[in-house]
Amino acid sequence: MRVLGADLGGHFIKAALVEGGAVAARETVPTPESRSPADVIAAVAALASRLDPERSVKALGVGFPGMLDSRREKVLQAPNFPLMVGYPFRSALAQACGREVALENDAHCAALGEWAFGAAKDLTDFVLLTLGTGIGGAIVSGGRLVTGAYGKAGELGHLAVAGDAPCGCGALGHAEALFGADALGRAFSEAGIEGDLPELWLRRGEPRLAPLWEKALDALARLIASVSHALDPQAVILGGGLSRGLGLVETLRPLVLRYTAPPFRETFDLRLAALGDDAALLGSALGFALGSDLEFDQLCT
Ligand SMILES: [Zn+2]
Repeated sequence: MRVLGADLGGHFIKAALVEGGAVAARETVPTPESRSPADVIAAVAALASRLDPERSVKALGVGFPGMLDSRREKVLQAPNFPLMVGYPFRSALAQACGREVALENDAHCAALGEWAFGAAKDLTDFVLLTLGTGIGGAIVSGGRLVTGAYGKAGELGHLAVAGDAPCGCGALGHAEALFGADALGRAFSEAGIEGDLPELWLRRGEPRLAPLWEKALDALARLIASVSHALDPQAVILGGGLSRGLGLVETLRPLVLRYTAPPFRETFDLRLAALGDDAALLGSALGFALGSDLEFDQLCT
């Protein structure tokens, strides 16, 4: 089945024509500066038209970086798209595109992508953390993507494991407030340390940098241990830009085990995502690629 997928980010909107689980054609455009619903919808509709000018593909799946209502119609919270909050995004986009639209949280989409084609293939119970600007999360438990009673389950970056650091969501002490790229960038620049994060990661052994990385890694380790205890997963999978830091898994594993009860240590499996930046894009298309709306609903608890 051919499906269109789109992945909305704060800087770029990526879209692809997905066929048989692979990207057949793709395009990326900068996210409109206004980030307003009208401009974002126009940008996505234009991408869809360019990838499928004959309108032969009837379905568009969209990964969105924010919290969505249980009906996947409206945005509840989105730090990168504040004007989108409360807006009936799904139906407005469907109308503009002339296609069926499925809207899903972007980390959930990444989990669906990894589940079908990547590091979570053949698993029934896993947790995905996307380490980027913030920390996205998704839970697959008993072979189902967990969405919770009100649609917001899986917001694992907002687990309160980090003292009382202010988080971008408006609350205190969340892991994202220490390990998100935004938070890390702020912490380093407040300490007068210049450089981008991949470079600072490589220099993590330097005396000025080590304590800052240790604090951030400790928050992430506590998060992973807590999630493991709550869900008893087959694997915890790390994706997103920061997961590509060389040696992250090896550095994290012993830190997580410090906070892990012995029976959980034996089954603990921390691994990297396999699909890179394409995970959310492939996963956004997956709801429809699986066959129908109904089938996608059946995936979600
Ligand atoms: Zn938060």
